[in-house]
Amino acid sequence: MQRRKFLKNSTTAAAAVISVPFINSCQEEVTIPKKLAKTIRPIAICTWNFENATAKAWQVLKEGGSSLDAVQQGAMIEEADVNNQTVGVGGRPDRDGNVTLDACIMDKDGNCGAVLAMQNIASPVSVARKVMEETPHVMLAGKGAEKFAYEQGFEKTNLLTEQSKKEWLEWKKTSQYKPIINIENHDTIGILAIDKKGDISGACTTSGMGYKYAGRVGDSPIIGAGLFVDNEIGAATATGVGEEVVRTVGSFLIVELMRQGKSPQEACEEGVKRIMAKNKDRTDFQIGFIAINKNGETGGYCIQPGFTYRTYSEEGHIDNSSMSFLKG
Ligand code: ASP
Repeated sequence: MQRRKFLKNSTTAAAAVISVPFINSCQEEVTIPKKLAKTIRPIAICTWNFENATAKAWQVLKEGGSSLDAVQQGAMIEEADVNNQTVGVGGRPDRDGNVTLDACIMDKDGNCGAVLAMQNIASPVSVARKVMEETPHVMLAGKGAEKFAYEQGFEKTNLLTEQSKKEWLEWKKTSQYKPIINIENHDTIGILAIDKKGDISGACTTSGMGYKYAGRVGDSPIIGAGLFVDNEIGAATATGVGEEVVRTVGSFLIVELMRQGKSPQEACEEGVKRIMAKNKDRTDFQIGFIAINKNGETGGYCIQPGFTYRTYSEEGHIDNSSMSFLKG
C-alpha cells in the first residue's frame, strides 16, 4: 500500500519536470516548476521516520495554521522525546558529557534564526524562532544563546538522561570517535511545510554528532547548509555528517538546483553526488537530503540505505522508505 502511494507520488513528480522560465522581482531569470493541475497543499515533510512530528505539523496545517507554526511544533515533538537520542532532551552529549543543541528556523520571507551549541534548554527550535522574531540577529551561540533563552522565559532543563549518560560513560572507556552510519551520528530532524496559503517554512534541530568535540557545530543550525527556504521555489533540509553538508552549502544548493528547473528528487540526487565527488575514497558516512517545491512535490536521496523521510498531505501519511540511495 505504502509502496503504491510512493510510486504514485513519483509519477506526479515526473509529470512536473516541465518548467517555465520567468524574470523575478530581482530581475533574475528563474525557472519554477509549471503549476500542476493539482497542487499538493498543505503538506509537511520531515527527515527520517519521525511520524509524530509530521502528524503534529499536519494537524497545524489542516486547521489553517501557518507553515512556520507547523514546522516549529513538529520539531518540538522530537525535541521533547527523551527516547530520541539525537534531538533535544535525551540527546547524546559531547565527549565531555555536555548535551549541546543546534537548531534553526526559516520563514517564507527569508527571515531566519538559529542557536548553536546551546545547553540546558529543551526546545532549541523555539529559541531559534525567538532569535528570528525578537532580535536583529540570525545566530546566537553557546552561553549567549542560553542567556537569551532565559530572558525569553525558557526554563533551565537537564538534557542528559540516564540512558545517554550511561552510554557516554561506556564510550569513555575507549573514547574512540567513530560515528556509526545511521546510528550514532544521525536522526537530526529537518522539517519542511507548505500551508494552505502556499507559503513555505522549514526548521532543523539536532544534538549533533554523538561524542563530538566540545563546541563542535555541524550543518543543522547553519542557514543554507542544514536548511534553506525560498518561498518562490521550495525548500530543502539535510541530515548526516554535517561537515560535508557545510562544504557544499547543501540545502541552498538543492533549492538553487530546483530554481534551475530540477525536480526535488533530481535536486537531492545532484546534491548527494556533489558531496560524493569531493569524497571519492570515502564510503563510511551518511548524508540525506529532502526537498519540496512550490507545487508540493517532494524528493529525498541519501548515500547509504537506511534513511527515509515522511510526508503528510491529503494523500495520507507516507513513509518513503522505499526511496533510492546512491550506494545501491
Ligand atoms: N547533521 C547533524 C550534524 O552534523 C547530524 C545528524 O544529522 O544527525 O550535527
